[in-house]
Amino acid sequence: MQRHALLVTALATVLGACVRTPPGRPGVDPVRPAREVRQERDERAVAEEAERGGAREGSADAASTRVRAGSSDEEALRARGLVIPVAGVPPERIPDTFHAARSGARVHRATDILAPRGTPVLSADDGRVLRVSRNRFGGLVVYATDPDGRFVYYYAHLDRHADGIAEGTKLAKGDVIGYVGTTGNAPKDTPHLHFQVMRRERDKGYWEGTPLDARPFLVESGSPR
Ligand SMILES: [Zn+2]
Repeated sequence: MQRHALLVTALATVLGACVRTPPGRPGVDPVRPAREVRQERDERAVAEEAERGGAREGSADAASTRVRAGSSDEEALRARGLVIPVAGVPPERIPDTFHAARSGARVHRATDILAPRGTPVLSADDGRVLRVSRNRFGGLVVYATDPDGRFVYYYAHLDRHADGIAEGTKLAKGDVIGYVGTTGNAPKDTPHLHFQVMRRERDKGYWEGTPLDARPFLVESGSPR
């Protein structure tokens, strides 16, 4: 437990917001020049938005700035019956890192799940893939959504994406979308999945949703389908 606490502390000090944009991953997205340009612009916006939002979140006392799921969000998330998105990890091995401090007075607002490098990363929900890409902090990432488009799921620091995962791919709970790694700004000796659930906001891009603490709803271990 001590070692685990230390790892979490290390994560808390090292990890960033997992957003920003470097070039897309060749071979994953078909060539769509205009779309690529738009996506890269969008991801830059994510980075800027995250920096501003994070600074704002971290500027006041922690208790009053906690971002919590509203009751309707809680009901909806519970109804989704999410599976833990790393194969074989039981609920008790997921530390609460949602409110952990991050660099630049930001708050993590995501859940880190530690596992050996190469462990399958599973789709937590049914739905479809929104985006498969690489960015500076998140490394190799996948954005996905549930069947109703209410929530966005962000999976980061992947060692690699699963074969056949691309924008539009339909997902079922337990589908393998990638493998645990340390791409982006994850400590190289601490492979983990950075998992974030956002409530998609009607007037904003999918990457700009409100982060929700998913950990209370991660109660079912997942195994690859
Ligand atoms: Zn993280």
